[in-house]
Amino acid sequence: MLPLLMPSWPPGVRGVFTTRAGGQSMAPYAELNLGDHVGDDLRTVGANRAAVARAVGLAPDRLVFMEQVHGRSVALVDGPPEEPPVADALVTRARGLALVVMVADCVPVLLADPEAGVVAAAHAGRKGVELGVVAAAIRVMQDCGARPERLTVWLGPSIGGCCYEVPEQMQREVVAVAPGAVAPGGRTRAGTPSVDLRAALAAELTALGVPDVGLSGGCTNDDTDFFSYRRDATTGRFAGLVWLEA
Ligand SMILES: [Zn+2]
Repeated sequence: MLPLLMPSWPPGVRGVFTTRAGGQSMAPYAELNLGDHVGDDLRTVGANRAAVARAVGLAPDRLVFMEQVHGRSVALVDGPPEEPPVADALVTRARGLALVVMVADCVPVLLADPEAGVVAAAHAGRKGVELGVVAAAIRVMQDCGARPERLTVWLGPSIGGCCYEVPEQMQREVVAVAPGAVAPGGRTRAGTPSVDLRAALAAELTALGVPDVGLSGGCTNDDTDFFSYRRDATTGRFAGLVWLEA
């Protein structure tokens, strides 16, 4: 079995975060790299993706990936698309269709309103936080009948304020649009300016009326169980998956 982070969801919803353990990729992508855009062998990536599908009890073609571009486009899907949509968030009402967000430091955001029967996965790095990709995903969920006050949201492993060093000017720019991005002090462990993307998103979600926001896992730059672009540059991607039970 693959080791997975399994946060708790309301009945009818499932969602997990993968780690880097359990796949077939060789260094520097070892082991469970799910990214097909990072230089790893594509057949190995396919085998890794199939292993994740098996581990969660779905057919490999029921995993929907996206071509993530650090934007705020949201793709509403009702079945496996021909090609991965160019988007940074996916929304579906289809059952047994897992939405996949790939990351290595950016925040994988999983959202669900089981009463409306709608789930979403979003990719929120610094640009996504600044552009409001999660709010954009919630708007599409609302078009599908979801309500912010009924949402359960999990923010997966990502680089923390402890490690995400940015220039002072960039820190100011992020805070201008996402006031929650800087905890008191706003410094890395080394004492340099930093931003905390998960804190930014948690504050934004609370402001949008979402009562139930959880953090799963810790800082990817610190925890070698996860891929970290900041730590390793050439590396793999782990993933968050969310789906409505069939
Ligand atoms: Zn850290």
